[in-house]
Amino acid sequence: MADQYTSMENLRFLLHDVHQVSDILDHERFVDYDVDGINIMLDAAKDVADKELFPYFAEMDEKPVRYEDGKVIVHPQIKRFIEVGAENGWIGSWFDYDQGGMQMPQMLYGSIFHILDSANNNVAGYIGLTSGAANLIRNFGSQELYDTYVPNMLAGKWMGTMALTEPQAGSSLSDIKTTAYPQADGSYKIKGQKIFISGGDHQYADNFVHLTLARIEGAPQGTKGISLFVVPKNLPSGEYNDVFTAGDFQKMGQKGYATTHLVYGENDNCTGWLVGKPHNGLRYMFQMMNEARLSVGSSATAVATAAYHASLQYAKERPQGRPLTSSGKKNVDKGQTFIINHPDVRRMLLLQKAVVEGAHSLLLECAKIGDLESMTEGEEHDNLHLLLEILTPIAKTYPSEMGRISISNGLQILGGYGFCTDFPLQQYYRDIRIMSLYEGTTGIQSLDLLGRKVTMQGGKALQLLMAEMTKTIQEATTFDDLKKYANILTEKLELTQQVLQYLLKFAMEGDYSRFLADATMFMEYASTLVIAWQWLKQAIVAKKALVTGNMTFDSTFYESKIHTMKFFFKYEVPKTSGLSQILMDDEVLTIVEEKELIV
Ligand SMILES: Cc1cc2nc3c(=O)[nH]c(=O)nc-3n(C[C@H](O)[C@H](O)[C@H](O)COP(=O)(O)OP(=O)(O)OC[C@H]3O[C@@H](n4cnc5c(N)ncnc54)[C@H](O)[C@@H]3O)c2cc1C
Repeated sequence: MADQYTSMENLRFLLHDVHQVSDILDHERFVDYDVDGINIMLDAAKDVADKELFPYFAEMDEKPVRYEDGKVIVHPQIKRFIEVGAENGWIGSWFDYDQGGMQMPQMLYGSIFHILDSANNNVAGYIGLTSGAANLIRNFGSQELYDTYVPNMLAGKWMGTMALTEPQAGSSLSDIKTTAYPQADGSYKIKGQKIFISGGDHQYADNFVHLTLARIEGAPQGTKGISLFVVPKNLPSGEYNDVFTAGDFQKMGQKGYATTHLVYGENDNCTGWLVGKPHNGLRYMFQMMNEARLSVGSSATAVATAAYHASLQYAKERPQGRPLTSSGKKNVDKGQTFIINHPDVRRMLLLQKAVVEGAHSLLLECAKIGDLESMTEGEEHDNLHLLLEILTPIAKTYPSEMGRISISNGLQILGGYGFCTDFPLQQYYRDIRIMSLYEGTTGIQSLDLLGRKVTMQGGKALQLLMAEMTKTIQEATTFDDLKKYANILTEKLELTQQVLQYLLKFAMEGDYSRFLADATMFMEYASTLVIAWQWLKQAIVAKKALVTGNMTFDSTFYESKIHTMKFFFKYEVPKTSGLSQILMDDEVLTIVEEKELIV
């Protein structure tokens, strides 16, 4: 059997049947897209992924990015992929036609990147970041900056990065020190250093355009004094701009994806150009970061999806042990059974499927909200924006954290081989580990969810989310088989009110430390319920297909969806009861006290 790393059936089911991409295609921006055309584009992406990405996945791990004589050397296939990405218009997919883009819906863009990332998660970031950086210049930069940089970026000749992190400033960007000194001609001299910059240098691009956060000399302290600059490695004339690549970090995973250390202005000759207004840099960068957070959630889902398919294939082909007979003894006269027939292996496979297909559904939900947001105005637009705000930290964190756990289960399914490099599970396990760190760690996403998103506009974002979940619950109750699960989710929404009442009391008393001490537990709690909502959505669509007989896929596909929903409600949803107990426990064990209790 050919190695499978994703399911096109599942992708089509989620995109067309559950999240109904057709809803957005009437809009004038997307008139050139239709369902058949979308399917053709997905098949084309799969073809590229099959030929250009998947065959190089293990090799990129075995022959990682290296740093030699001041140069970053990446796998030769990166060159080919950048060319293919540019040829297919994927770098400028969101951009308008007259800007050389494809006016592509986010739902389609996200689906294409799901395919690419599940085939080889080392690669798509090179063009994904370039696209995000070009978008920042488009939205906030001058026409001159746009004309100078963006066309070459969309053509794949120049690459883009987001350069925020410094050795002393990771989660806390208010502490960045890189400084911009104003020059008479309106440009700035930049001095400082950035670490962990993804795709920051390699041999296959003529230039690297670093969207860099820096503080204009004399700017106020904190986030309000941060500005955004375009700082190219080479000036548009081709002359070196004093951005030195001091190294490439050697990592436990994603070894084919360069992670660079950049030093700006070592020779006092690094020029940068301000994007937008001074001191607004973090606000602008947040636009890219929000997109990037959804991309990380999407990549994590893709990696865990590929791992699921690898362990599913193995479980179907690996004979080991015998089923227990009715007396509880093994029938040794019979041959071995395939391990997929053991309940414990089945449990692990179902966990993998439940996590990856639940997370994938959430990411398409977010992409659709993003598309609808771009098509609407006024209150409708504002509500969609709020909904996306509250879902973004969840859509980043759930696939990153639970995707890792699902891969660990997948690795377990392979037994000893799971630990060995002959099989890809160990690589997926290492690769996914970065997802809960970059673009804001799980701790930071959780503070954002509970401390900002839940409370924003008097709790309006949360109300909007609850309203969406309630709509799904109401629809589910119209099917006898789904009522039980709809009722469970209703009870959990009531429990959520209790949890929040308990926690918000601390916020109202001004005790923020206590309010947010267990924010990560709250993230786990809330994200489990959000994924339960996504599973109920999928089950409704599957049920309708089975009841009406209007089926695009084999009936087993729909039955499997309902079965996995039931699995999620039996094995995952009850964990929220324990989490709510932790969240509402009066005992406090993690807040720093006068007496040090960690010894
Ligand atoms: C492979 C890789 C690629 C990267 N790519 C990029 C890139 O392209 N561009 C870029 O700018 N950066 C990039 N980064 C940097 C990344 O975003 C940071 O590593 C990340 O934000 C965490 O910052 P830090 O490493 O300084 O950890 P720290 O901020 O020191 O955090 C350490 C721990 O403390 C916790 N913590 C910190 N502050 C708080 C708080 N206030 N409350 C509770 N807990 C807290 C964190 O959750 C974490 O568990 C990359 C990093 C890696 C490893």
